[in-house]
Amino acid sequence: MGHALTTLRGRIYDPGMRWRGRKKSDNVEDIRAKGPAGGAGLAIGGGIGIVIAIVVLLMGGDPTAILQGGGGGAGKGAPQAPFNPTPEEQELVEFIKVVLRDTEDTWHQQFRLLGKRYEEPKLVIFRGSVKSACGFAGAQMGPFYCPADKKIYIDVSFYKMLREKLGAPGDFAQAYVIAHEVGHHVQNLLGDSARVHKARGTPQQNAMSVRLELQADFYAGLWAHHAHRAKQILERGDIEEAINAAEKIGDDALQKKAQGRVVPDSFTHGSSAQRMAWFRHGLKTGDIQLGDTFNDRIYDAVNPR
Ligand SMILES: [Zn+2]
Repeated sequence: MGHALTTLRGRIYDPGMRWRGRKKSDNVEDIRAKGPAGGAGLAIGGGIGIVIAIVVLLMGGDPTAILQGGGGGAGKGAPQAPFNPTPEEQELVEFIKVVLRDTEDTWHQQFRLLGKRYEEPKLVIFRGSVKSACGFAGAQMGPFYCPADKKIYIDVSFYKMLREKLGAPGDFAQAYVIAHEVGHHVQNLLGDSARVHKARGTPQQNAMSVRLELQADFYAGLWAHHAHRAKQILERGDIEEAINAAEKIGDDALQKKAQGRVVPDSFTHGSSAQRMAWFRHGLKTGDIQLGDTFNDRIYDAVNPR
């Protein structure tokens, strides 16, 4: 991140991606004031997240609780912290609205080229835990997309974790996360998530999940390609922030960090090298036809050796 840091009201501020004063999406549902959703079971059946339960471990949570659908969120009875967002958090919410709008503009254009109509997803900003059509989820799960209600769910505390625990700072790392989840929505509209859902419980389950996740990274790169072409949003160092984030949330990087060893057969999101390669491929080509990770010829051509 070579560009100089400037100060704004005494706080260190990284100018990064150009977003201030740009159009915002109307599809953000900000439910932070409601506080945690609570509830006993915490299992997002069918939700697709950007990171795996291993991050829960890094945040001191209990990943098995998530995988077995228990534990986690504050029960309804738990005293709720008053909703008192910091100026930084409010700024992040405005940033999310601008990035979501950018993805809407890109995907309306891409779907028109496909002779289809793009249905915009909703993005829910929650605090602590949330109830979705895919089940309850806690903030420690990381952002996720629920195909059942076509909504993206994010607790902005995830960005603090991304920056501090995973070593992926910068606003374009944050934009990459949103564009990745929007990628899952695109897959839902184009029928790819259904293909992967069908593979659940089969020996292909993990391999198909990896292909879905890498395609979502490709779609994040494709968005950056078209958004920059249309609106010159990128600043020096932005792309490096996104690629660094993709590297830091690769299955191998997370497993190494959390358990000191890597189990490739358990990968559900792809290695760091794969995630970086598919983001770069989307960014370079901007061509949706070249992102078909379910096509073996394309998949093998892009995947790092
Ligand atoms: Zn994902």
